[in-house]
Amino acid sequence: MRAVIVHGGSGKLKQHKIERAKNGVKEAAEAAYNALLSGASALDACEIGVKSLEDNPVFNAGTGAVLTLDGRCELDAAIMVGSTYSAGAVGGVENIKNPISLARKIMEETDHVLLVGEGAKKFANLMGFEEYDPITEERRSEWKELRKKLLLGESYKWHKINELIRRFPELLEGTVGCVVLDDKGEIVAGTSTGGVFLKLLGRVGDTPMIGAGTYTTPFAGASATGIGEGIMRVVLAKTVTDFIQMGVPPDMASQAGIRMLTERVGLSAGVIALDREGNVGFSKNTENMPVAFIKDGMDKVEVVI
Ligand code: ASP
Repeated sequence: MRAVIVHGGSGKLKQHKIERAKNGVKEAAEAAYNALLSGASALDACEIGVKSLEDNPVFNAGTGAVLTLDGRCELDAAIMVGSTYSAGAVGGVENIKNPISLARKIMEETDHVLLVGEGAKKFANLMGFEEYDPITEERRSEWKELRKKLLLGESYKWHKINELIRRFPELLEGTVGCVVLDDKGEIVAGTSTGGVFLKLLGRVGDTPMIGAGTYTTPFAGASATGIGEGIMRVVLAKTVTDFIQMGVPPDMASQAGIRMLTERVGLSAGVIALDREGNVGFSKNTENMPVAFIKDGMDKVEVVI
């Protein structure tokens, strides 16, 4: 059984971005699934799916990722292989195009799981990653708008982030994730993000925290999105995969994970998951989360917003 599920972030999408986001997740699920059909491994297919989302400027990952309070673009990503529990992750890296590919290199070419900032960038240079500016004009002007709103009377305190996001839902938008099952039973999950708009420089969220934003076992994989400060505190992705391993189907496991997060920390989040039979699940406590999935036996990708 082969299966793919992708997400394009939780939060609230502006009206003009809804169709673009739906098309974006559909294209990414198709790209990953077509790769599986032509014999690619779950690892290759997951990287292909996440790269398609990173390269699409509508999402908050890679090209078009959101900016820090001081107008920079620091990217986080992680990838994890279920059968071996191998993982690679990158935090706060600047000026590269595809952080998911750098996370994979960290997994495959180093003894480490997570590299951050300058060290991650140096490693990227060694691995031949080209210099790339992921900041788009669209994001730069959104950033200017948001900063103006905040400077006009909003104090910017991290413990106020949820309240802030309720007032300015566009602060949280568009992290990406992909979970893949190949016909050998391998499961791989990958997640990539620019983090939260107007984050402090140096802030790392849940995405590259193995277990929080991304987790895979031989039985299940999950990718989370939402306010990283909440997701990290309940270790959301691992919790959902644990539920699945205990026999809970992925849709109920995702719902249980989001319910638990909502009750315990009360912050915004969403999650997608998949098990080794190819059952998929997803849940969110926000207004939107573009999701697309396809598996053997389906004749086209299903898209949900
Ligand atoms: N989870 C990401 C972070 O906190 C943001 C998001 O999912 O939109 O870095």
